Amino acid sequence: MSKLVIVGTVAFDAIETPFGKTDKILGGAATFIGLAASQFHVDAAAVSIVGGDFPQEYLDLLSERGIDISGVEVIKEGKTFFWSGKYHNDMNTRDTLATELNVLADFNPKVPEDYKDAEVVMLGNLHPNVQMSVLEQMDTKPKLVILDTMNFWMDCALEELHNVIKKVDVITINDEEARQLTGEYSLVVAARKIHDMGPQYVVIKKGEHGALLFHDDNVFYAPALPLEEVFDPTGAGDTFAGGFAGYLAKSGDLSFENMKNAVIYGSTLASFCVEKFGTERMVNLKPNEVHKRLQQFKQLTQFEIELA
Ligand code: AMP
Repeated sequence: MSKLVIVGTVAFDAIETPFGKTDKILGGAATFIGLAASQFHVDAAAVSIVGGDFPQEYLDLLSERGIDISGVEVIKEGKTFFWSGKYHNDMNTRDTLATELNVLADFNPKVPEDYKDAEVVMLGNLHPNVQMSVLEQMDTKPKLVILDTMNFWMDCALEELHNVIKKVDVITINDEEARQLTGEYSLVVAARKIHDMGPQYVVIKKGEHGALLFHDDNVFYAPALPLEEVFDPTGAGDTFAGGFAGYLAKSGDLSFENMKNAVIYGSTLASFCVEKFGTERMVNLKPNEVHKRLQQFKQLTQFEIELA
């Protein structure tokens, strides 16, 4: 089993969907990634920052799931990163209502000593300079570096984002962000352009329409499970990335064939995330539920056709 370093926000979110509205609840990219990766019982550490307003029970929730939180800095006199979003009726698109960086504005990430030799690094959605700083702190070159990002950083730190994209093996990005990053409408062309920017593997997430994995001329597609109830898509992308990274860290096999399985695990875990507000579903997720849904996934995508 490999060690996994996760960097990203640990945050307060306030979410509005057609089904309801929350006050400030637990959120953040590193939170969702960590909860998903914890399903694989990997040796993982989160690198993040919170303010003195962040409840200890939220931090405990991560450490109870085996995530090392010694790299989560607490700034007593500061306020935790806050994000608020409102989903449209189709639940595939949302408006960001507020992004308050707070303690994140001056964040200098510190990778715990014991994790500077981690084989897998998951650079969750954060300022690209913070992502780069984490890479620079590693004593040994990780076997796999995965990067997730979003339009916010393309708008305000594009050059820095390009610098870090050059250094990663896998990028996970959603369809609209892939289009924004490349100026291409076709996702196949966009993936090729992102490939040319550095990453050997490009994962394009398409929300309820699944995810595509590109590597050279190979493409793999995994649908999203058709769900009866989608309550809140927040964190689905991060949960996907956490499942993808956690599975690869656990198995240690970084081949394209095994990355297909990682995409399936990522999609399966994301399908749970959207069923309840915030982290609620992921916090209570049981291994047998995951197993059952993997079986459903297999059934959904299996067919027998006689080819002459
Ligand atoms: P997702 O739905 O996968 O895009 O992720 C939603 C999570 O990302 C929320 O829990 C937010 O706290 C977090 N988030 C939103 N905006 C940002 C940002 N600009 N940088 C880092 N994390 C963010």
